[in-house]
Amino acid sequence: MLEYAHKTHPGCTHDHNEDSLGCDGDAGLWLVADGMGGHAAGEVASRIAVETIFERCALGDELLEATRQAHVAIVAHADNNEAQKGMGTTAVALRVDDRRGEVVWVGDSRAYLLRDGKLTPLTRDHSFMQLMIDRQHLTEEQARSHPRRNVVTQVLGFNEPQPDRVETVLQDGDLVMLCSDGLYDELEDAQMLEIIQAGGSLQAQAGRLVDAACDHGGRDNISVILVRYSNQDADTLQRVAGVAPGAKPAAQEVPDEHSQRRGFLPDPAFWGIVAALVVFILFLLLKGGAV
Ligand code: CA
Repeated sequence: MLEYAHKTHPGCTHDHNEDSLGCDGDAGLWLVADGMGGHAAGEVASRIAVETIFERCALGDELLEATRQAHVAIVAHADNNEAQKGMGTTAVALRVDDRRGEVVWVGDSRAYLLRDGKLTPLTRDHSFMQLMIDRQHLTEEQARSHPRRNVVTQVLGFNEPQPDRVETVLQDGDLVMLCSDGLYDELEDAQMLEIIQAGGSLQAQAGRLVDAACDHGGRDNISVILVRYSNQDADTLQRVAGVAPGAKPAAQEVPDEHSQRRGFLPDPAFWGIVAALVVFILFLLLKGGAV
């Protein structure tokens, strides 16, 4: 079974939101896209990415090919709209089929996997900072505060992006988080982990992540999608919940033998005793009258 929650917010310093999200539990497909470009072109690019990837996957494309087609669609749109030339978008998508989880991405929007209490990145940014880290010119800590930390080396809509892909076999209790840089730029991995592990509903967790990023500055649009995998189906979970300590019994639950015995209507043995007492009292009265 898959549960999911999502939230997006313009942040504290932007009056509009260029991030776009896509969520479809039936299709097993989730997507965060972080658009860029002037004259509101960023949100157009990110929306085209979401629409194209969902459409192409529904038509049978693999996620990697659907992402390539999103690039083609954004370029075509920009070619026909002079004001939106130069627009582009990152994209990170999760597709789940049974236990197979596939992540495809372009740019610096990320996917993380929370498993066994550890939050691990599934993606590797297509960014200037990642290049500098790979070449050991910067540490990850230095990159976090670098003035060029938001420079991406690949986006949909520019040149010829090469989407990357990673696959994982999902385990019971796994949680995959998709997010734009507006979230992880403000919060370190340990902070995100702590917020998720504080519990509550998935929607509450998504809300707390966005709120915390706002509290830490909210310098960019902030988007997050949380997808939790369970290898139990919904019916099984409901049955487990029905017998869990402190859980309310299910409405349709058949009363057990004990509760039936505690019912209001007395059983036949009770009426037998009453009848015997009445006979005995009558006997005493008749006997007394005879004396
Ligand atoms: Ca961003």
